[in-house]
Amino acid sequence: MAGNKTLTMIKPDAVRDGHIGAILNQITEAGFRISAMKLTQLSTADAQAFYAVHAERPFFGELVEFMTSGPIVAAILEKDNAVEDFRTLIGATNPAEAAEGTIRARFAKSIGENAVHGSDSDENAQIEGDFHFAGREQF
Ligand code: GDP
Repeated sequence: MAGNKTLTMIKPDAVRDGHIGAILNQITEAGFRISAMKLTQLSTADAQAFYAVHAERPFFGELVEFMTSGPIVAAILEKDNAVEDFRTLIGATNPAEAAEGTIRARFAKSIGENAVHGSDSDENAQIEGDFHFAGREQF
């Protein structure tokens, strides 16, 4: 059975561009409940750990530099079938390929600076939620 939790980050590009409110509105309008949320900034070590699975990819350095370049909003979102439904809501990694009306189609600049993160599995949703939030910050 699919889990009911996913982890998102509103990435530094979207925070810089003033899109926090519009993105959170689209998320809650789509039926997700926010069960944890904070404005924070990743250190280089944080970003390297969060994206460790991509360590061998050619864009890893760029990804870490971008994700540490300014504040982000991290949030745990709850809804039935959360991981899959949220990935549908955000659209493809490359905004040029993201379906019309998706968060990345509306707000992302490029495949690297793509406005939002969404967990890719229930297992990673749990790991990523616990990466950002202590138990007492999850409601
Ligand atoms: P996601 O699950 O849709 O976020 O995509 P991936 O797991 O494949 O990649 C993780 C993140 O790495 C993406 O959201 C982008 O921010 C970044 N990324 C992926 N591909 C590229 C690329 O070709 N160039 C750069 N600079 N960043 C990339």
